[in-house]
Amino acid sequence: MGRYCNVWGLSVSVLESFSYRDLDARRVGRVNWGVNTSFIVYRLGDTLIDTGPSNQWKFVKPFVQEKLLRQLLLTHHHEDHSGNAGAIHALTGVQPLAPEKTVEILKRGFRIPPIQKFIWGSAGLAEAAPLPETIAIGGDPVTPIFAPGHAKDMTCYLLPDRGWLFSADLYIANYLKLLRIDEHIPTLLDSMRRVLREDFEVILCPHRGVVEDGKARLREKYDFLIELSERAQALHNQGVEPLEITRQLLGNEPLTSILSRYNFSKRNLIASCLEVDIGSFR
Ligand SMILES: [Zn+2]
Repeated sequence: MGRYCNVWGLSVSVLESFSYRDLDARRVGRVNWGVNTSFIVYRLGDTLIDTGPSNQWKFVKPFVQEKLLRQLLLTHHHEDHSGNAGAIHALTGVQPLAPEKTVEILKRGFRIPPIQKFIWGSAGLAEAAPLPETIAIGGDPVTPIFAPGHAKDMTCYLLPDRGWLFSADLYIANYLKLLRIDEHIPTLLDSMRRVLREDFEVILCPHRGVVEDGKARLREKYDFLIELSERAQALHNQGVEPLEITRQLLGNEPLTSILSRYNFSKRNLIASCLEVDIGSFR
């Protein structure tokens, strides 16, 4: 099933269901401005991984109801990942399981910039429980890997027996052009290095989709960020100002950056790359 509406040349509303082996997936989104503005909710057996945004509840709800749900795993608190956690809990009685920091954030709530609120809707509060000592999906053991940098609470879920990684927002693309103000490249590189030490083939990305050569692609992103940091730091050492480095290496800021008041921008990426201790990643 796929549906893409088109109004005044602007593609709006995304709805698509697909499967990959025994994995079910539903992509939802209010707007279709690229992979970053739609979200894939994955279900493996009786387990849902992340919830999709609250403004897509009418499409997520029937997906949740299609099969018996016994477990809901959250990767981090961002509204596209956790927005329906409270609603799913109320609907099914299944309490979301989340990293400890995520549990705290979802309890007290968090602020969402206006552009994100437009794309995803508001963040629902949720009473999540911390991840138990051992997690399994069906008979498959699950290894949570703490992977901050994109968000301070983010955790990826590895299924070692399958070589599958539910990557949260660690991957998305094999390069980065924009960075949120609360993201931190040195921490992200550290997390990517930790994940790359694990054995896996397939990335299940909630934005990009199924990436079959996932480890190689994630390695490309890692190498890209180190190289970008090296180039930015070389210019910085020549006395070039960060805004000029940004322009030289990444070009002008796109409309998204301006609309977000540079909360999500190229200049943030360069500023964070200047903080990378490159020697420690060689
Ligand atoms: Zn996120």
